[in-house]
Amino acid sequence: MLGRVVGSVEEARQDAEQAGAKEAKEPKPSLKRCPCGYDRNHPMVSPKADYTFLGWCLIMIGISAKPTSISFVCRTCDTVVERTTNPKDIAETRLWG
Ligand SMILES: [Zn+2]
Repeated sequence: MLGRVVGSVEEARQDAEQAGAKEAKEPKPSLKRCPCGYDRNHPMVSPKADYTFLGWCLIMIGISAKPTSISFVCRTCDTVVERTTNPKDIAETRLWG
């Protein structure tokens, strides 16, 4: 890897953008996968909602709040396969059931 550091600045920048892209350098499809090979649609990968503090308060008193982001976590290796803050993604994700 170090050998081709000077190669292309642009390429390096793209690598940096894919935070935590330390694993595999095989050409990636659009869907990310955990080390087990599961993507976010796999049954073993469950969505986990993240709320703001205010969101938690609302839930506590029985009002359903919209999560601020959703993490898709593999139940086998506990890896966060993907994390989204896209409101559309969040609305489409079924969190309960
Ligand atoms: Zn996994």
